[in-house]
Amino acid sequence: MNDTSPLHIVCPHCHTTNRVRTDQLASAPDCGQCHQPLFAGAPLALDADGFERHVQRSHIPVLVDFWAPWCGPCRAMAPAFAQAARELEPQVRLAKLDTEAHPALAARHQIRSIPTMILFQNGRESARMSGALGAADIVRWVRTATR
Ligand code: ZN
Repeated sequence: MNDTSPLHIVCPHCHTTNRVRTDQLASAPDCGQCHQPLFAGAPLALDADGFERHVQRSHIPVLVDFWAPWCGPCRAMAPAFAQAARELEPQVRLAKLDTEAHPALAARHQIRSIPTMILFQNGRESARMSGALGAADIVRWVRTATR
């Protein structure tokens, strides 16, 4: 990511695909459609449509936390995942998918236990991790997997 060709970055607010030059990624770009920040420094809650758009269209890796409201370890990991978002954006998009609200997506990705994090690169799963991690471990794992 050291050239100036535009990256496709999906807006976390309106899900429009924006073209952002690599060298402008770190200067807090706004969405051309809704004018809100393309990176909020926080995980994005996805529905099924948003999941497809972000995973399929993003030129940056997308890390999805498959979780559920009834899952104690998932809720316990939420602050660590939010902290990881502050550290990993804008190089990586962090998002959450509620497996109780979207069981078909969880089944398609063969989620057998939660929390499970899946890292998507160019629309494909490139790594997954089951079980809760602390923020530093999430950041380390993602940086290793995206190197
Ligand atoms: Zn937008």
